[in-house]
Amino acid sequence: MTLHLVTYDRGGREAVGALVDGGLVPLDAFIETLPAAPWSGAMVRLIRGTLGKPGALAEAVAKGKPEAFDEATLLAPIPRPARNVFCVGRNYAAHAAEGYAARGVAPVKIEAPEFFTKAPQAVVGQDATVPVDTALTQAFDYEVELAVIIGKGGANIPAASAMDHVFGFTVGNDLTARDLQRRHGQWFKGKSLDRSCPLGPYIAVREGGQGHPDWAISLTVKGEQRQSSRTSMMVFDVPAILEQLSRGMALEPGDIILTGTPEGVGYARKPPLVLAAGDRIEASVEGLGTLRTRIA
Ligand code: MN
Repeated sequence: MTLHLVTYDRGGREAVGALVDGGLVPLDAFIETLPAAPWSGAMVRLIRGTLGKPGALAEAVAKGKPEAFDEATLLAPIPRPARNVFCVGRNYAAHAAEGYAARGVAPVKIEAPEFFTKAPQAVVGQDATVPVDTALTQAFDYEVELAVIIGKGGANIPAASAMDHVFGFTVGNDLTARDLQRRHGQWFKGKSLDRSCPLGPYIAVREGGQGHPDWAISLTVKGEQRQSSRTSMMVFDVPAILEQLSRGMALEPGDIILTGTPEGVGYARKPPLVLAAGDRIEASVEGLGTLRTRIA
């Protein structure tokens, strides 16, 4: 059975547990036995502490006693990553094509993954409220993405063994101010506004032997479907992304990588759609649950 790990607020403290049969097995006591991980929370301590110990986590979960769990206490799986969230741009051909059409520019052949980042402080979790300042942006947009959580770190990771470096997966929503993305040349400003990186609801721990996933990926706004594709449609699959991102730059346990969004984003639609106060967004990936976000 796939392990589903959550980070949640337990009496004002960041705690980690496993979702089991509608309840939750607290893993605090298990995590206390693992070496402390500076600059990181409980989830990264768990990820680091169980590297190279297959079965230790599953055993701790099996030994635990499920408790009632209040979903309202959920935090992002890694609420404050130790460094920026890595992202890949234009990684679905149909999304790249809709962008060229919307901007009236000629298609570019994508030779290598386009990397950019979002600040750690932009990360929020399930049922986050995200403000949109219409004096700042008139083009706030959504992007459902498969998020990869790194387990074993390392530089120069070959694609052939890259999946062994994946601890698990969650859902991401790469909220983007399109007008700022373009105005400032580099994408960082438009991609990194406060609370613009919803992640969650849980991490599905990768199972041994699992390769690049082929999962349904979709997003709705106010209940209306806006994006629908499969993760097998990526231009650069997860092994290729990890190989290229890790060249000369070591990945670390707990690093988060957003792998790009499929077609259907708001700005490329006819007429274009812009997120507005009151909008409810549901971003889903098969097997990873639904990440809910509200625009305020
Ligand atoms: Mn994106």
